[in-house]
Amino acid sequence: MNVLEHLQRRSKPFVSFEIIPPLRGANLRDLLALVDALAQYRPPFIDITSHAAKPVVAQTSGGSLVRRIERKRPGTLGICALIQHKYGIDAVPHMLCEGFTREETEDFLIELHYLGVENVLALRGDAATVEPVQRPGRQRNETAEDLVLQIDAFRQGRLLHEDEDARGPRQPVHPLPMCIGVAGYPEKHMFAASMEEDIAALRRKVDAGADYVVTQMFFENAHYVSFVQRCREEGITVPIIPGLKVLTSRKQLDVLPRVFACEIPQALRDEVCRATDDKVMDVGAEWAAEQAKALVAGGAPAVHFYVMQRADPVAKALARVPDL
Ligand code: FAD
Repeated sequence: MNVLEHLQRRSKPFVSFEIIPPLRGANLRDLLALVDALAQYRPPFIDITSHAAKPVVAQTSGGSLVRRIERKRPGTLGICALIQHKYGIDAVPHMLCEGFTREETEDFLIELHYLGVENVLALRGDAATVEPVQRPGRQRNETAEDLVLQIDAFRQGRLLHEDEDARGPRQPVHPLPMCIGVAGYPEKHMFAASMEEDIAALRRKVDAGADYVVTQMFFENAHYVSFVQRCREEGITVPIIPGLKVLTSRKQLDVLPRVFACEIPQALRDEVCRATDDKVMDVGAEWAAEQAKALVAGGAPAVHFYVMQRADPVAKALARVPDL
């Protein structure tokens, strides 16, 4: 089933997760242990993040410094295949505009289709990455809306460059199923001039073919509630899945607002500051559990946890939420 079908056929709210591929060349053992731990919560789907290539400076064996362009965390596609076929959990690869040409995007979609993966989360991608190699006639998507349009055309069986192919019609392509998710920002995307503009951009992504929205992490449920209300007022009718993160360290009080433009409520800050180091994760888990309970009680269709690489913070939170 795809994410939309899971949402439509659910008998109760469910939990889903987002994980991050290991660093380049690292062992897969830790990732398998992570998925083993998450599988016991019976998530209908797991998202796997994607990372564009970035410039890195490395030292050669001769001691000189070289600058090269490298994907720090490759492997999204392979991990999707593993999750889907080893665990029977639907995989949701993240697909980016940043770092990929439209042709590479199409190849990725074709590979997903071969693997039986029928879900993607379409994103612009974190900035400050390098441009994909530019070749004449090869272009990139600029915004997630462009990417959704390309994926939507693909799922209707329309490939790139068909109209301009002088060799005549290609092998006919049948419609290819693909459920498309996009990102939403309850506290506004950091580059958006206003909430109105941000929700208008989200509306365009949905009009382009997105089937559902997953939100950026938030620590104050009121942001999600008012975001959903404003989206509905603007005619966005697709499901909006709240994204939560368990705060695990004092450092995150500064890092998370800076990187994800999310507010950490004063009450949570105070509790973290009062806790001893070994108890910070418990405070974060308790907070996330209370958020999850209230979201489910308020009618959220599911709760999506940003797990990244560690299952224990989420396990602590979910132990306190019997309904998920
Ligand atoms: P877009 O929807 O294209 O744009 C973001 C905002 O820019 C819009 O909300 C709008 O305010 C503005 N905007 C868009 N188009 C226009 C326009 N034409 N004119 C004016 N303003 C416009 N990053 C990664 O690199 N890898 C990942 O795996 C990843 N996973 C993520 C998962 C989730 C659930 C979320 C919320 C974010 C994730 N990100 C990831 C981060 C994401 O790539 C960044 O937040 C990025 O800056 C924006 O991506 P987007 O898809 O929301 O972009």
